[in-house]
Amino acid sequence: NLTQRMARVVKTLRGEARLTEANTQDMLREVRLALLEADVALPVVREFIAKVKEKALGEEVISSLTPGQALVAVVQRELTAIIGGDYEGKASELNFAVTPPAIILMAGLQGAGKTTTVGKLAKLLREKQKKKVLTVSCDVYRPAAIQQLKTVTEQVGADFFASEPGQKPVDIALAALDWAKKHYHDVLIVDTAGRLGIDEAMMQEIAALHTAIKPAETLFVVDAMLGQDAVNTAKAFNDTLPLTGVVLTKLDGDSRGGAALSVRHVTGKPIKFVGVGEKLDGLEVFYPDRMANRILGMGDILALVEEAQRGVDVDAAQKLANKVKKGGDFDLNDFRAQLSQMKKMGGLGSLMDKLPAQFQQAAGNADMNQAEKQMRRMEGIISSMTLAERSKPELIKASRKRRIAAGAGVQVQEVNRMLAQFEQMRGMMKKLKGGNLAKMMRGMKG
Ligand code: GDP
Ligand code: MG
Repeated sequence: NLTQRMARVVKTLRGEARLTEANTQDMLREVRLALLEADVALPVVREFIAKVKEKALGEEVISSLTPGQALVAVVQRELTAIIGGDYEGKASELNFAVTPPAIILMAGLQGAGKTTTVGKLAKLLREKQKKKVLTVSCDVYRPAAIQQLKTVTEQVGADFFASEPGQKPVDIALAALDWAKKHYHDVLIVDTAGRLGIDEAMMQEIAALHTAIKPAETLFVVDAMLGQDAVNTAKAFNDTLPLTGVVLTKLDGDSRGGAALSVRHVTGKPIKFVGVGEKLDGLEVFYPDRMANRILGMGDILALVEEAQRGVDVDAAQKLANKVKKGGDFDLNDFRAQLSQMKKMGGLGSLMDKLPAQFQQAAGNADMNQAEKQMRRMEGIISSMTLAERSKPELIKASRKRRIAAGAGVQVQEVNRMLAQFEQMRGMMKKLKGGNLAKMMRGMKG
């Protein structure tokens, strides 16, 4: 999985002074896999990786960053730039600088979400921009499609221009345009028929519509779940129509959003909106940086980079986990290693936050500050022991306890208390499944 792959690479990069051909290669291989996993089309991935490589090798690693962080930053920046382009901040603006009505033509395959998006757009333009909106359906092949548009239009309180099956799409659109002019509509949104696949007749029909009505906006609506297939569809529509923008729908699904990069790459047109639900308020402005993070699974990656920087040794955690799992004896060396890991991970308090509910309950309402102070003292006590004592705590009899206490500058009772706590921990370790422990040590993301 992506998180594990990135963890490996971040780790190999840690401690190196600058990005080299060799270590970027490893990291970039993981980024490449992450993009493919996000369903970005292969040729797009190749080109992107080449670009990042070029930028990364030219880049100085500033001292506050690890090379891994520097490279992740380049990847994130480039991806954001590519899917955002020069449209940053104004991608979602529609062109109304025309003699009214401004016509918006919707294009895309059947099921892409065109009709739904017409409803969403009408709602947005009416409510946010106080536009008077008329909608019309040129989907003359399916009576249900016309009814569907009528329904959503009424739901959002916009006006609907009735059309009938059997009429020609161009005639319908021109009649609607005429009506819109007479009734002073600011915007006319033209819904169209889509086929299940790319189809020459469909392309000719929509091209003819475009020529007849000269829309201010021609929006290509595409289903984010299409993944790699989005490339071919986008190419076909882009070759046929002078698209002005893209609407990426169904991002509320579990797709990684790789289609965003593919479609941007193929069309070069801005992604203006994203559909995030079946309901008519499920339309959002497009944010390239968020999309870049989604595609890369960046939440995971950034967490890993941070973790690596804090010096949490995932390998050590895993070794300990395996040892416990195999029934190996948990000794004071392990106990101490664990205490120091906890410290690196931000102390007990932050560790507790990451633990599953059952552990948190087990810990009760213990005072974390107090517990942390105690942790430090325990580490001190263990440091005063010989290696033999650490691996065989049974050896520690009264005389040894006095020596250890003196070495650590504490009372003998405290050594006793520490040993009792260690025994308790050992008992808990026996009950813990190795996997849970590994997760706990890694900082639990979920
Ligand atoms: P059209 O054939 O292009 O007009 O597509 P429709 O607008 O009829 O949408 C097809 C299906 O996708 C319908 O069931 C919609 O409810 C659904 N849909 C459209 N947009 C979204 C979206 O952003 N999220 C989700 N979850 N479903 C959507
Ligand atoms: Mg439709």
